[in-house]
Amino acid sequence: MSANKESLNFDAKQLRDKYRVERDKRLRVDGNEQYQEVTGRFSHFVTDPYVTGEPRAPISDFVEIAIIGGGFGGLLAGARLQEAGLTDVRIIEKGGDFGGTWYWNRYPGAQCDIESYIYLPLLEELNYVPKEKYTHAPEMLAHSRAIAEQYNLYENALFQTEVTGMSWNDHDKEWNLTTNKGDSLRARYVCMSNGPLNRPKLPAIKGIEDFEGHTFHTSRWDYEYTGGDTEGGLTRLKDKKIGIIGTGATAVQCIPHLAEASKSLTVFQRTPSSIDVRGNRPTDPEWANSLNKGWQKNRMTNFNILVTGGQQEEDLVNDGWTDIIRKLSMFNASRASETSLTPEEMMARVELADFEKMEQIRARVDSVVEDSKTAEALKPWYRQFCKRPCFHDDYLKAFNQDNVTLVDTDGKGVQEITAKGVMVDGIEYELDCLIFATGFEVGTDYTQRAGYDITGRGGVSLSDKWSDGMRTLHGFQTNGFPNCFFMGVVQGGFTANFPHMLDEQSTHIAHMVAHADNNNYHSLEASEEAENDWVATMESMAVINQQFLEDCTPGYYNNEGKPGNKSSLGASQYGAGPEAFFQLIREWREEGSLSGLNFS
Ligand code: NDP
Repeated sequence: MSANKESLNFDAKQLRDKYRVERDKRLRVDGNEQYQEVTGRFSHFVTDPYVTGEPRAPISDFVEIAIIGGGFGGLLAGARLQEAGLTDVRIIEKGGDFGGTWYWNRYPGAQCDIESYIYLPLLEELNYVPKEKYTHAPEMLAHSRAIAEQYNLYENALFQTEVTGMSWNDHDKEWNLTTNKGDSLRARYVCMSNGPLNRPKLPAIKGIEDFEGHTFHTSRWDYEYTGGDTEGGLTRLKDKKIGIIGTGATAVQCIPHLAEASKSLTVFQRTPSSIDVRGNRPTDPEWANSLNKGWQKNRMTNFNILVTGGQQEEDLVNDGWTDIIRKLSMFNASRASETSLTPEEMMARVELADFEKMEQIRARVDSVVEDSKTAEALKPWYRQFCKRPCFHDDYLKAFNQDNVTLVDTDGKGVQEITAKGVMVDGIEYELDCLIFATGFEVGTDYTQRAGYDITGRGGVSLSDKWSDGMRTLHGFQTNGFPNCFFMGVVQGGFTANFPHMLDEQSTHIAHMVAHADNNNYHSLEASEEAENDWVATMESMAVINQQFLEDCTPGYYNNEGKPGNKSSLGASQYGAGPEAFFQLIREWREEGSLSGLNFS
Protein backbone atom coordinates (compact mmCIF):
# COMPACT_ATOMS: atom_id res chain seq x y z
CA MET A 1 0.00 0.00 0.00
CA SER A 2 1.48 3.33 -0.99
CA ALA A 3 1.60 6.23 1.40
CA ASN A 4 -0.83 8.97 0.62
CA LYS A 5 0.78 12.20 1.72
CA GLU A 6 -2.31 14.36 1.13
CA SER A 7 -4.82 12.27 3.09
CA LEU A 8 -2.42 11.31 5.87
CA ASN A 9 -0.65 14.63 6.49
CA PHE A 10 2.73 12.94 6.61
CA ASP A 11 5.09 11.23 4.26
CA ALA A 12 5.47 7.63 5.35
CA LYS A 13 8.69 7.10 3.46
CA GLN A 14 10.30 10.16 4.99
CA LEU A 15 9.25 9.01 8.45
CA ARG A 16 10.56 5.51 7.85
CA ASP A 17 13.89 7.00 6.79
CA LYS A 18 13.99 9.35 9.76
CA TYR A 19 13.26 6.49 12.18
CA ARG A 20 16.06 4.46 10.63
CA VAL A 21 18.55 7.33 10.93
CA GLU A 22 17.58 7.89 14.58
CA ARG A 23 17.85 4.16 15.34
CA ASP A 24 21.25 3.89 13.66
CA LYS A 25 22.60 6.75 15.77
CA ARG A 26 21.78 4.73 18.87
CA LEU A 27 22.86 1.22 17.86
CA ARG A 28 25.96 0.16 19.78
CA VAL A 29 28.04 -2.95 19.49
CA ASP A 30 28.07 -3.38 23.24
CA GLY A 31 24.21 -3.57 23.47
CA ASN A 32 23.29 -4.66 26.98
CA GLU A 33 26.97 -4.70 27.95
CA GLN A 34 26.97 -0.89 28.04
CA TYR A 35 25.54 -1.15 31.55
CA GLN A 36 27.33 -2.26 34.66
CA GLU A 37 26.09 -4.38 37.50
CA VAL A 38 25.40 -2.43 40.65
CA THR A 39 27.69 -4.56 42.79
CA GLY A 40 31.07 -4.22 44.44
CA ARG A 41 32.20 -0.60 44.49
CA PHE A 42 28.81 0.48 43.17
CA SER A 43 26.77 -1.40 45.76
CA HIS A 44 26.07 1.77 47.76
CA PHE A 45 23.66 2.61 44.92
CA VAL A 46 21.38 -0.22 46.09
CA THR A 47 21.60 0.24 49.84
CA ASP A 48 18.11 0.29 51.31
CA PRO A 49 17.52 3.89 52.45
CA TYR A 50 14.19 3.10 54.13
CA VAL A 51 15.32 0.83 56.98
CA THR A 52 18.36 0.28 59.10
CA GLY A 53 20.00 -3.12 58.73
CA GLU A 54 18.57 -5.05 61.66
CA PRO A 55 20.78 -7.97 62.75
CA ARG A 56 18.92 -11.18 63.57
CA ALA A 57 19.86 -14.73 64.47
CA PRO A 58 20.03 -17.16 61.51
CA ILE A 59 17.02 -19.41 61.05
CA SER A 60 17.07 -23.07 60.25
CA ASP A 61 13.66 -24.63 59.61
CA PHE A 62 11.19 -26.09 57.12
CA VAL A 63 8.16 -24.55 55.42
CA GLU A 64 5.86 -26.07 52.81
CA ILE A 65 6.20 -23.14 50.42
CA ALA A 66 8.86 -20.45 50.22
CA ILE A 67 8.11 -17.48 48.00
CA ILE A 68 11.08 -15.39 46.94
CA GLY A 69 10.00 -11.78 46.53
CA GLY A 70 7.39 -9.80 48.42
CA GLY A 71 6.11 -7.57 45.62
CA PHE A 72 2.74 -7.91 43.94
CA GLY A 73 3.72 -11.33 42.56
CA GLY A 74 4.75 -12.78 45.91
CA LEU A 75 1.73 -11.27 47.63
CA LEU A 76 -0.63 -12.67 45.00
CA ALA A 77 0.99 -16.10 45.18
CA GLY A 78 0.72 -16.01 48.98
CA ALA A 79 -2.93 -14.97 48.79
CA ARG A 80 -3.98 -17.56 46.19
CA LEU A 81 -2.10 -20.32 48.04
CA GLN A 82 -3.83 -19.37 51.28
CA GLU A 83 -7.19 -19.42 49.50
CA ALA A 84 -6.37 -22.92 48.25
CA GLY A 85 -5.82 -23.99 51.87
CA LEU A 86 -2.01 -23.92 51.77
CA THR A 87 -1.07 -21.87 54.78
CA ASP A 88 2.51 -22.83 55.60
CA VAL A 89 3.91 -20.08 53.41
CA ARG A 90 7.00 -17.95 53.94
CA ILE A 91 7.87 -14.91 51.87
CA ILE A 92 11.55 -14.00 51.69
CA GLU A 93 12.09 -10.38 50.73
CA LYS A 94 15.17 -8.23 50.21
CA GLY A 95 13.40 -5.02 51.26
CA GLY A 96 12.30 -4.07 54.75
CA ASP A 97 8.61 -4.65 53.98
CA PHE A 98 6.23 -5.91 51.31
CA GLY A 99 5.62 -3.90 48.13
CA GLY A 100 8.46 -4.81 45.71
CA THR A 101 8.56 -2.12 43.03
CA TRP A 102 6.51 0.12 45.28
CA TYR A 103 8.74 -0.53 48.25
CA TRP A 104 11.80 0.60 46.31
CA ASN A 105 10.39 3.22 43.98
CA ARG A 106 9.40 6.14 46.19
CA TYR A 107 10.81 8.86 43.98
CA PRO A 108 8.78 12.09 43.88
CA GLY A 109 5.80 11.72 41.58
CA ALA A 110 5.94 7.89 41.51
CA GLN A 111 2.60 6.75 40.23
CA CYS A 112 1.14 3.72 38.48
CA ASP A 113 0.88 4.19 34.74
CA ILE A 114 -1.83 1.57 34.32
CA GLU A 115 -5.22 2.46 35.75
CA SER A 116 -5.17 1.71 39.48
CA TYR A 117 -8.56 -0.08 39.43
CA ILE A 118 -7.02 -2.83 37.32
CA TYR A 119 -3.41 -2.49 38.46
CA LEU A 120 -3.74 -2.91 42.21
CA PRO A 121 -4.26 -6.59 43.03
CA LEU A 122 -7.10 -8.11 45.04
CA LEU A 123 -9.23 -4.98 45.31
CA GLU A 124 -12.49 -6.88 45.69
CA GLU A 125 -10.96 -9.32 48.15
CA LEU A 126 -9.89 -6.35 50.28
CA ASN A 127 -13.08 -4.42 49.59
CA TYR A 128 -11.03 -1.43 48.52
CA VAL A 129 -11.18 1.10 45.70
CA PRO A 130 -8.07 3.28 45.14
CA LYS A 131 -8.39 7.03 45.62
CA GLU A 132 -7.37 8.06 42.09
CA LYS A 133 -7.55 6.66 38.58
CA TYR A 134 -3.71 6.61 38.55
CA THR A 135 -2.77 6.33 42.13
CA HIS A 136 0.51 7.39 43.71
CA ALA A 137 3.21 5.21 45.25
CA PRO A 138 2.27 5.53 48.96
CA GLU A 139 -1.20 4.10 48.33
CA MET A 140 0.30 1.15 46.47
CA LEU A 141 2.76 0.49 49.28
CA ALA A 142 -0.06 0.71 51.83
CA HIS A 143 -2.18 -1.65 49.72
CA SER A 144 0.68 -4.15 49.58
CA ARG A 145 0.80 -4.10 53.38
CA ALA A 146 -2.96 -4.49 53.59
CA ILE A 147 -2.82 -7.60 51.38
CA ALA A 148 -0.12 -9.09 53.60
CA GLU A 149 -2.21 -8.35 56.71
CA GLN A 150 -5.37 -9.84 55.25
CA TYR A 151 -3.65 -13.04 54.13
CA ASN A 152 -1.52 -13.40 57.23
CA LEU A 153 1.72 -13.14 55.31
CA TYR A 154 3.66 -11.09 57.87
CA GLU A 155 3.79 -13.86 60.44
CA ASN A 156 6.32 -16.02 58.63
CA ALA A 157 8.01 -13.42 56.44
CA LEU A 158 11.74 -12.75 56.38
CA PHE A 159 12.59 -9.17 55.41
CA GLN A 160 15.97 -7.65 54.59
CA THR A 161 16.91 -11.14 53.54
CA GLU A 162 18.42 -12.08 50.22
CA VAL A 163 18.54 -15.63 48.95
CA THR A 164 22.13 -16.48 48.05
CA GLY A 165 21.71 -20.06 46.88
CA MET A 166 19.09 -22.69 46.25
CA SER A 167 19.58 -26.39 45.63
CA TRP A 168 17.32 -29.40 45.30
CA ASN A 169 17.66 -32.30 47.71
CA ASP A 170 16.31 -35.22 45.73
CA HIS A 171 16.46 -37.60 48.66
CA ASP A 172 14.17 -35.54 50.88
CA LYS A 173 12.31 -33.94 47.97
CA GLU A 174 12.83 -30.43 49.21
CA TRP A 175 14.74 -27.27 48.41
CA ASN A 176 17.60 -25.98 50.55
CA LEU A 177 18.01 -22.24 50.56
CA THR A 178 20.81 -20.12 51.94
CA THR A 179 20.57 -16.39 52.60
CA ASN A 180 22.76 -13.39 53.34
CA LYS A 181 21.60 -13.66 56.97
CA GLY A 182 23.14 -17.09 57.42
CA ASP A 183 19.79 -18.90 57.30
CA SER A 184 19.51 -22.43 56.09
CA LEU A 185 15.94 -22.86 55.06
CA ARG A 186 14.18 -25.93 53.75
CA ALA A 187 11.02 -25.81 51.66
CA ARG A 188 8.94 -28.36 49.79
CA TYR A 189 8.08 -25.81 47.09
CA VAL A 190 9.70 -22.58 45.99
CA CYS A 191 7.96 -19.88 44.06
CA MET A 192 10.25 -17.43 42.29
CA SER A 193 8.72 -14.00 42.19
CA ASN A 194 11.86 -11.93 41.90
CA GLY A 195 10.35 -9.35 39.56
CA PRO A 196 11.41 -8.47 36.03
CA LEU A 197 12.90 -5.06 36.81
CA ASN A 198 14.36 -5.54 40.25
CA ARG A 199 18.08 -4.87 39.69
CA PRO A 200 18.90 -1.19 39.15
CA LYS A 201 21.46 -0.66 36.44
CA LEU A 202 24.03 2.06 35.82
CA PRO A 203 25.55 3.02 32.51
CA ALA A 204 29.26 2.23 32.36
CA ILE A 205 30.15 5.87 31.69
CA LYS A 206 33.80 6.86 31.83
CA GLY A 207 34.57 8.64 35.10
CA ILE A 208 31.34 7.59 36.85
CA GLU A 209 33.33 6.95 40.04
CA ASP A 210 35.07 10.31 39.91
CA PHE A 211 32.03 12.45 40.59
CA GLU A 212 32.54 14.20 43.92
CA GLY A 213 29.03 15.55 44.37
CA HIS A 214 26.05 13.67 45.72
CA THR A 215 24.56 10.84 43.66
CA PHE A 216 21.87 8.14 43.80
CA HIS A 217 19.63 5.94 41.64
CA THR A 218 15.92 6.82 41.43
CA SER A 219 14.92 3.48 42.97
CA ARG A 220 16.72 4.49 46.19
CA TRP A 221 15.63 8.13 46.39
CA ASP A 222 17.63 10.07 48.96
CA TYR A 223 15.03 12.25 50.74
CA GLU A 224 17.61 12.98 53.40
CA TYR A 225 19.41 15.00 50.72
CA THR A 226 16.46 16.38 48.72
CA GLY A 227 13.92 16.92 51.50
CA GLY A 228 10.24 16.31 50.78
CA ASP A 229 8.57 13.01 50.02
CA THR A 230 6.85 11.09 47.25
CA GLU A 231 4.43 13.96 46.81
CA GLY A 232 7.26 16.43 46.16
CA GLY A 233 8.27 19.43 48.25
CA LEU A 234 12.01 18.81 47.75
CA THR A 235 12.87 21.93 49.73
CA ARG A 236 16.53 21.12 50.33
CA LEU A 237 17.25 21.51 46.62
CA LYS A 238 16.52 25.23 46.40
CA ASP A 239 20.19 26.15 46.19
CA LYS A 240 21.33 22.98 44.42
CA LYS A 241 22.35 22.31 40.83
CA ILE A 242 20.80 18.98 39.94
CA GLY A 243 21.50 16.75 36.96
CA ILE A 244 19.54 13.69 35.92
CA ILE A 245 20.57 11.04 33.39
CA GLY A 246 17.70 9.24 31.68
CA THR A 247 14.33 10.22 30.28
CA GLY A 248 12.34 6.97 30.64
CA ALA A 249 9.10 6.42 32.57
CA THR A 250 10.73 7.11 35.94
CA ALA A 251 12.41 10.36 34.90
CA VAL A 252 9.18 11.56 33.30
CA GLN A 253 7.43 11.29 36.66
CA CYS A 254 10.12 12.84 38.87
CA ILE A 255 11.44 15.62 36.60
CA PRO A 256 8.49 17.99 37.21
CA HIS A 257 9.21 17.82 40.97
CA LEU A 258 12.95 18.36 40.50
CA ALA A 259 12.20 21.27 38.18
CA GLU A 260 9.92 22.86 40.73
CA ALA A 261 12.33 22.56 43.65
CA SER A 262 15.91 22.86 42.42
CA LYS A 263 17.99 25.94 41.73
CA SER A 264 18.79 24.43 38.35
CA LEU A 265 17.94 21.14 36.69
CA THR A 266 19.91 19.73 33.77
CA VAL A 267 18.29 16.78 32.02
CA PHE A 268 20.70 14.60 30.02
CA GLN A 269 18.75 12.87 27.31
CA ARG A 270 19.72 10.08 24.95
CA THR A 271 16.28 9.18 23.56
CA PRO A 272 13.08 11.10 24.27
CA SER A 273 10.05 9.21 25.55
CA SER A 274 6.62 9.38 23.93
CA ILE A 275 4.51 11.50 26.30
CA ASP A 276 0.76 11.21 25.92
CA VAL A 277 -2.04 12.82 27.96
CA ARG A 278 -2.50 11.44 31.52
CA GLY A 279 -5.81 12.90 32.68
CA ASN A 280 -5.68 11.63 36.26
CA ARG A 281 -8.73 12.21 38.47
CA PRO A 282 -9.99 11.32 41.92
CA THR A 283 -12.24 8.30 42.20
CA ASP A 284 -15.92 9.12 41.98
CA PRO A 285 -17.42 7.68 45.20
CA GLU A 286 -20.77 7.10 43.48
CA TRP A 287 -19.07 5.00 40.83
CA ALA A 288 -17.10 3.11 43.49
CA ASN A 289 -20.31 2.32 45.36
CA SER A 290 -22.03 1.12 42.21
CA LEU A 291 -19.51 -1.65 41.48
CA ASN A 292 -20.88 -5.18 41.42
CA LYS A 293 -19.22 -8.45 42.36
CA GLY A 294 -16.65 -9.50 39.79
CA TRP A 295 -16.06 -5.94 38.59
CA GLN A 296 -12.29 -5.96 38.89
CA LYS A 297 -11.74 -9.16 36.95
CA ASN A 298 -14.14 -7.96 34.23
CA ARG A 299 -12.34 -4.65 33.98
CA MET A 300 -8.91 -6.30 33.83
CA THR A 301 -10.06 -8.68 31.10
CA ASN A 302 -11.75 -5.88 29.16
CA PHE A 303 -8.52 -3.85 29.20
CA ASN A 304 -6.37 -6.83 28.35
CA ILE A 305 -8.45 -7.74 25.33
CA LEU A 306 -8.51 -4.16 24.06
CA VAL A 307 -4.79 -3.52 24.42
CA THR A 308 -3.96 -6.70 22.55
CA GLY A 309 -6.04 -5.63 19.58
CA GLY A 310 -9.29 -7.46 20.41
CA GLN A 311 -12.85 -6.11 20.33
CA GLN A 312 -15.10 -5.26 23.28
CA GLU A 313 -18.49 -3.59 23.29
CA GLU A 314 -17.33 -1.04 25.81
CA ASP A 315 -13.91 0.38 26.69
CA LEU A 316 -14.17 0.37 30.49
CA VAL A 317 -10.75 1.88 31.25
CA ASN A 318 -10.84 4.26 28.29
CA ASP A 319 -7.44 5.87 28.65
CA GLY A 320 -4.19 6.54 26.82
CA TRP A 321 -3.39 2.84 26.56
CA THR A 322 -6.65 1.81 24.99
CA ASP A 323 -6.56 4.95 22.84
CA ILE A 324 -3.17 4.00 21.43
CA ILE A 325 -4.38 0.57 20.44
CA ARG A 326 -7.58 2.04 19.01
CA LYS A 327 -5.46 4.36 16.88
CA LEU A 328 -3.17 1.52 15.86
CA SER A 329 -6.24 -0.49 14.90
CA MET A 330 -7.83 2.38 13.03
CA PHE A 331 -7.83 0.27 9.92
CA ASN A 332 -9.68 -2.52 11.67
CA ALA A 333 -12.90 -1.66 9.89
CA SER A 334 -11.23 -2.04 6.54
CA ARG A 335 -9.57 -5.20 7.85
CA ALA A 336 -12.98 -6.72 8.39
CA SER A 337 -14.25 -5.70 4.98
CA GLU A 338 -11.08 -6.49 3.05
CA THR A 339 -10.32 -10.02 4.04
CA SER A 340 -8.15 -10.37 0.96
CA LEU A 341 -5.40 -8.29 2.57
CA THR A 342 -2.14 -10.13 2.97
CA PRO A 343 -0.37 -10.03 6.36
CA GLU A 344 2.18 -7.67 4.80
CA GLU A 345 -0.60 -5.30 3.68
CA MET A 346 -2.08 -5.46 7.15
CA MET A 347 1.28 -4.64 8.74
CA ALA A 348 1.65 -1.71 6.37
CA ARG A 349 -1.69 -0.32 7.53
CA VAL A 350 -0.79 -0.70 11.17
CA GLU A 351 2.49 1.06 10.44
CA LEU A 352 0.60 4.01 8.98
CA ALA A 353 -1.64 4.17 12.04
CA ASP A 354 1.49 4.11 14.19
CA PHE A 355 2.98 7.02 12.21
CA GLU A 356 -0.24 8.94 12.70
CA LYS A 357 -0.27 8.32 16.45
CA MET A 358 3.36 9.37 16.81
CA GLU A 359 2.72 12.49 14.74
CA GLN A 360 0.08 13.37 17.32
CA ILE A 361 2.60 12.76 20.13
CA ARG A 362 5.14 15.01 18.37
CA ALA A 363 2.52 17.71 17.76
CA ARG A 364 1.76 17.66 21.48
CA VAL A 365 5.41 18.51 22.19
CA ASP A 366 5.15 21.54 19.90
CA SER A 367 1.94 22.67 21.53
CA VAL A 368 3.42 22.57 25.06
CA VAL A 369 7.14 23.34 24.80
CA GLU A 370 7.84 27.02 24.01
CA ASP A 371 11.44 26.89 22.83
CA SER A 372 11.43 25.33 19.37
CA LYS A 373 14.93 23.80 19.64
CA THR A 374 14.02 22.12 22.92
CA ALA A 375 10.69 20.97 21.48
CA GLU A 376 12.44 19.44 18.50
CA ALA A 377 14.82 17.53 20.79
CA LEU A 378 11.94 16.18 22.87
CA LYS A 379 10.22 14.52 19.90
CA PRO A 380 10.42 10.73 19.75
CA TRP A 381 11.26 9.30 16.33
CA TYR A 382 10.36 5.63 16.61
CA ARG A 383 7.27 3.45 16.59
CA GLN A 384 4.99 3.60 19.59
CA PHE A 385 5.82 0.23 21.13
CA CYS A 386 9.58 0.38 20.64
CA LYS A 387 9.61 1.75 24.18
CA ARG A 388 7.15 1.84 27.03
CA PRO A 389 4.71 4.70 26.28
CA CYS A 390 4.60 7.40 28.96
CA PHE A 391 1.67 9.55 30.05
CA HIS A 392 2.14 12.81 31.90
CA ASP A 393 0.56 16.26 32.00
CA ASP A 394 3.45 18.21 33.60
CA TYR A 395 6.62 16.67 32.17
CA LEU A 396 6.82 18.63 28.91
CA LYS A 397 5.77 21.85 30.65
CA ALA A 398 8.77 21.58 32.98
CA PHE A 399 11.05 22.42 30.04
CA ASN A 400 9.44 25.88 29.83
CA GLN A 401 10.92 26.81 33.21
CA ASP A 402 13.99 29.06 33.19
CA ASN A 403 15.86 26.84 35.63
CA VAL A 404 15.51 23.70 33.44
CA THR A 405 17.94 22.83 30.65
CA LEU A 406 17.66 19.91 28.29
CA VAL A 407 21.01 18.57 27.14
CA ASP A 408 20.21 16.38 24.20
CA THR A 409 23.08 14.03 23.42
CA ASP A 410 21.63 13.25 19.99
CA GLY A 411 21.41 9.55 20.68
CA LYS A 412 24.98 9.21 21.92
CA GLY A 413 24.29 9.31 25.64
CA VAL A 414 26.45 10.83 28.31
CA GLN A 415 30.01 9.82 27.60
CA GLU A 416 31.94 11.20 30.51
CA ILE A 417 31.42 12.12 34.12
CA THR A 418 33.96 14.32 35.86
CA ALA A 419 34.67 15.21 39.47
CA LYS A 420 32.46 18.26 39.08
CA GLY A 421 29.67 17.08 36.82
CA VAL A 422 28.78 15.74 33.40
CA MET A 423 30.59 16.33 30.14
CA VAL A 424 28.71 16.39 26.83
CA ASP A 425 30.19 17.61 23.55
CA GLY A 426 33.14 19.16 25.35
CA ILE A 427 30.97 21.19 27.72
CA GLU A 428 31.17 20.42 31.42
CA TYR A 429 27.92 20.86 33.33
CA GLU A 430 28.79 21.44 36.97
CA LEU A 431 26.43 19.77 39.42
CA ASP A 432 25.88 19.37 43.14
CA CYS A 433 23.92 16.17 42.66
CA LEU A 434 23.63 13.65 39.83
CA ILE A 435 20.60 11.35 39.75
CA PHE A 436 20.59 8.16 37.72
CA ALA A 437 17.18 7.42 36.19
CA THR A 438 18.78 4.72 34.10
CA GLY A 439 16.41 1.85 34.75
CA PHE A 440 16.78 -1.80 35.60
CA GLU A 441 18.39 -4.93 34.18
CA VAL A 442 16.09 -6.65 31.71
CA GLY A 443 17.93 -8.59 29.01
CA THR A 444 20.55 -10.12 31.28
CA ASP A 445 20.44 -13.80 32.25
CA TYR A 446 17.61 -14.84 34.54
CA THR A 447 19.99 -15.99 37.27
CA GLN A 448 22.00 -12.73 37.13
CA ARG A 449 18.77 -10.78 37.61
CA ALA A 450 17.72 -13.09 40.45
CA GLY A 451 21.12 -12.61 42.09
CA TYR A 452 21.79 -16.33 42.68
CA ASP A 453 21.88 -19.54 40.70
CA ILE A 454 19.63 -22.55 41.29
CA THR A 455 20.95 -26.09 41.42
CA GLY A 456 18.47 -28.73 40.34
CA ARG A 457 18.51 -32.50 40.29
CA GLY A 458 21.93 -34.01 39.61
CA GLY A 459 23.74 -30.74 40.37
CA VAL A 460 22.65 -29.04 37.13
CA SER A 461 22.50 -25.24 37.43
CA LEU A 462 19.67 -23.23 35.96
CA SER A 463 22.14 -20.90 34.25
CA ASP A 464 23.60 -23.92 32.43
CA LYS A 465 20.21 -25.38 31.61
CA TRP A 466 19.03 -22.06 30.18
CA SER A 467 22.31 -21.03 28.59
CA ASP A 468 20.66 -21.20 25.15
CA GLY A 469 17.38 -19.66 26.31
CA MET A 470 14.60 -20.37 28.76
CA ARG A 471 12.94 -23.80 28.65
CA THR A 472 9.72 -24.34 30.56
CA LEU A 473 6.26 -25.84 30.49
CA HIS A 474 3.85 -22.88 30.27
CA GLY A 475 6.53 -20.69 31.81
CA PHE A 476 6.07 -22.19 35.28
CA GLN A 477 8.38 -25.16 35.57
CA THR A 478 11.49 -26.55 34.01
CA ASN A 479 12.51 -30.19 33.87
CA GLY A 480 15.17 -31.14 36.43
CA PHE A 481 13.99 -28.49 38.91
CA PRO A 482 11.02 -30.10 40.68
CA ASN A 483 8.65 -28.07 42.87
CA CYS A 484 10.13 -24.81 41.61
CA PHE A 485 7.74 -22.32 40.01
CA PHE A 486 8.68 -19.25 38.03
CA MET A 487 6.54 -16.16 37.93
CA GLY A 488 6.80 -13.07 35.76
CA VAL A 489 8.10 -12.74 32.24
CA VAL A 490 9.05 -16.36 31.56
CA GLN A 491 7.46 -17.88 28.44
CA GLY A 492 3.91 -16.94 29.36
CA GLY A 493 1.27 -14.33 28.69
CA PHE A 494 3.00 -11.00 29.01
CA THR A 495 0.61 -8.07 29.26
CA ALA A 496 0.95 -4.32 29.80
CA ASN A 497 -1.00 -4.78 33.04
CA PHE A 498 1.65 -6.84 34.76
CA PRO A 499 -0.28 -7.67 37.98
CA HIS A 500 -3.03 -9.24 35.88
CA MET A 501 -0.54 -11.77 34.61
CA LEU A 502 0.84 -12.33 38.12
CA ASP A 503 -2.65 -13.09 39.39
CA GLU A 504 -3.30 -15.67 36.66
CA GLN A 505 0.07 -17.24 37.44
CA SER A 506 -0.66 -17.31 41.17
CA THR A 507 -3.98 -19.05 40.64
CA HIS A 508 -2.30 -21.61 38.43
CA ILE A 509 0.54 -22.34 40.85
CA ALA A 510 -1.88 -22.65 43.77
CA HIS A 511 -3.91 -25.15 41.74
CA MET A 512 -0.87 -27.32 40.96
CA VAL A 513 0.41 -27.32 44.55
CA ALA A 514 -3.06 -28.03 45.94
CA HIS A 515 -3.41 -30.94 43.51
CA ALA A 516 -0.10 -32.43 44.68
CA ASP A 517 -1.03 -31.84 48.30
CA ASN A 518 -4.49 -33.42 48.00
CA ASN A 519 -2.97 -36.49 46.34
CA ASN A 520 -0.08 -36.86 48.77
CA TYR A 521 2.59 -36.26 46.17
CA HIS A 522 5.90 -34.86 47.33
CA SER A 523 7.07 -33.47 44.07
CA LEU A 524 5.89 -32.35 40.69
CA GLU A 525 7.98 -31.49 37.70
CA ALA A 526 7.58 -30.63 34.03
CA SER A 527 8.35 -33.64 31.87
CA GLU A 528 11.09 -33.21 29.30
CA GLU A 529 8.65 -33.95 26.49
CA ALA A 530 6.11 -31.36 27.67
CA GLU A 531 8.84 -28.79 28.05
CA ASN A 532 10.13 -29.47 24.52
CA ASP A 533 6.60 -29.10 23.18
CA TRP A 534 6.12 -25.78 24.94
CA VAL A 535 9.44 -24.40 23.73
CA ALA A 536 8.49 -25.44 20.19
CA THR A 537 5.10 -23.74 20.61
CA MET A 538 6.76 -20.56 21.82
CA GLU A 539 9.15 -20.58 18.89
CA SER A 540 6.55 -21.37 16.28
CA MET A 541 4.22 -18.66 17.51
CA ALA A 542 6.86 -16.01 18.11
CA VAL A 543 4.46 -13.13 17.81
CA ILE A 544 7.21 -10.67 18.22
CA ASN A 545 7.73 -9.35 14.83
CA GLN A 546 11.47 -9.64 14.42
CA GLN A 547 11.50 -6.97 11.75
CA PHE A 548 9.57 -4.57 13.98
CA LEU A 549 12.06 -5.04 16.81
CA GLU A 550 15.04 -4.70 14.50
CA ASP A 551 13.67 -1.45 13.13
CA CYS A 552 13.15 -0.08 16.64
CA THR A 553 15.44 2.32 18.36
CA PRO A 554 17.38 0.42 21.04
CA GLY A 555 15.79 -0.12 24.44
CA TYR A 556 14.98 -2.95 26.77
CA TYR A 557 12.05 -4.11 24.59
CA ASN A 558 14.48 -5.13 21.84
CA ASN A 559 17.41 -6.11 24.01
CA GLU A 560 19.18 -2.80 23.36
CA GLY A 561 19.02 -3.15 19.60
CA LYS A 562 19.87 -6.85 19.51
CA PRO A 563 16.54 -8.68 19.30
CA GLY A 564 16.70 -12.44 19.16
CA ASN A 565 18.45 -12.96 22.50
CA LYS A 566 16.53 -15.84 24.04
CA SER A 567 16.58 -14.26 27.51
CA SER A 568 15.04 -11.06 26.24
CA LEU A 569 11.58 -9.76 26.98
CA GLY A 570 10.46 -10.50 23.43
CA ALA A 571 11.49 -14.15 23.63
CA SER A 572 9.30 -14.62 26.69
CA GLN A 573 5.92 -13.85 25.23
CA TYR A 574 3.28 -16.33 24.18
CA GLY A 575 2.53 -15.58 20.55
CA ALA A 576 -1.25 -15.64 20.66
CA GLY A 577 -1.37 -13.01 23.39
CA PRO A 578 -2.11 -12.98 27.10
CA GLU A 579 -5.85 -13.70 26.94
CA ALA A 580 -5.24 -16.80 24.82
CA PHE A 581 -2.54 -17.86 27.26
CA PHE A 582 -4.79 -17.38 30.30
CA GLN A 583 -7.48 -19.42 28.58
CA LEU A 584 -4.99 -22.14 27.68
CA ILE A 585 -3.83 -22.63 31.26
CA ARG A 586 -7.41 -22.37 32.57
CA GLU A 587 -8.51 -25.16 30.21
CA TRP A 588 -5.45 -27.20 31.19
CA ARG A 589 -6.52 -26.94 34.84
CA GLU A 590 -10.14 -27.76 34.04
CA GLU A 591 -9.17 -30.81 32.02
CA GLY A 592 -7.88 -32.19 35.29
CA SER A 593 -5.03 -34.54 34.40
CA LEU A 594 -2.32 -31.86 34.70
CA SER A 595 -0.74 -33.31 31.61
CA GLY A 596 2.95 -32.72 31.13
CA LEU A 597 3.71 -32.89 34.84
CA ASN A 598 5.37 -35.85 36.51
CA PHE A 599 4.32 -36.47 40.12
CA SER A 600 6.08 -38.54 42.70
P1 NDP B 1 14.18 2.98 31.46
O1 NDP B 1 15.03 1.80 31.18
O2 NDP B 1 12.88 3.06 30.81
O3 NDP B 1 14.96 4.33 31.13
C1 NDP B 1 16.34 4.47 31.32
C2 NDP B 1 16.75 5.79 30.74
O4 NDP B 1 18.14 5.97 30.91
C3 NDP B 1 16.48 5.89 29.25
O5 NDP B 1 15.99 7.16 28.95
C4 NDP B 1 17.87 5.66 28.66
O6 NDP B 1 18.02 6.18 27.36
C5 NDP B 1 18.69 6.40 29.67
N1 NDP B 1 20.12 6.10 29.58
C6 NDP B 1 20.74 4.92 29.75
N2 NDP B 1 22.05 5.05 29.56
C7 NDP B 1 22.28 6.35 29.26
C8 NDP B 1 23.44 7.10 28.97
N3 NDP B 1 24.65 6.53 28.90
N4 NDP B 1 23.30 8.43 28.74
C9 NDP B 1 22.08 9.01 28.78
N5 NDP B 1 20.95 8.34 29.05
C10 NDP B 1 21.06 7.03 29.28
O7 NDP B 1 14.05 3.04 33.06
P2 NDP B 1 12.90 3.68 33.95
O8 NDP B 1 13.31 3.52 35.37
O9 NDP B 1 12.53 5.02 33.48
O10 NDP B 1 11.66 2.76 33.66
C11 NDP B 1 11.79 1.35 33.70
C12 NDP B 1 10.44 0.71 33.55
O11 NDP B 1 9.80 0.73 34.80
C13 NDP B 1 9.46 1.41 32.63
O12 NDP B 1 9.65 1.12 31.29
C14 NDP B 1 8.17 0.90 33.14
O13 NDP B 1 7.89 -0.36 32.64
C15 NDP B 1 8.43 0.83 34.60
N6 NDP B 1 7.93 2.02 35.26
C16 NDP B 1 6.63 1.98 35.58
C17 NDP B 1 6.07 2.99 36.22
C18 NDP B 1 4.69 2.85 36.57
O14 NDP B 1 4.01 1.89 36.42
N7 NDP B 1 4.21 3.89 37.11
C19 NDP B 1 6.80 4.22 36.55
C20 NDP B 1 8.18 4.15 36.21
C21 NDP B 1 8.71 3.08 35.57
P3 NDP B 1 17.61 5.31 26.07
O15 NDP B 1 16.13 5.40 25.96
O16 NDP B 1 18.34 5.94 24.96
O17 NDP B 1 18.09 3.90 26.33
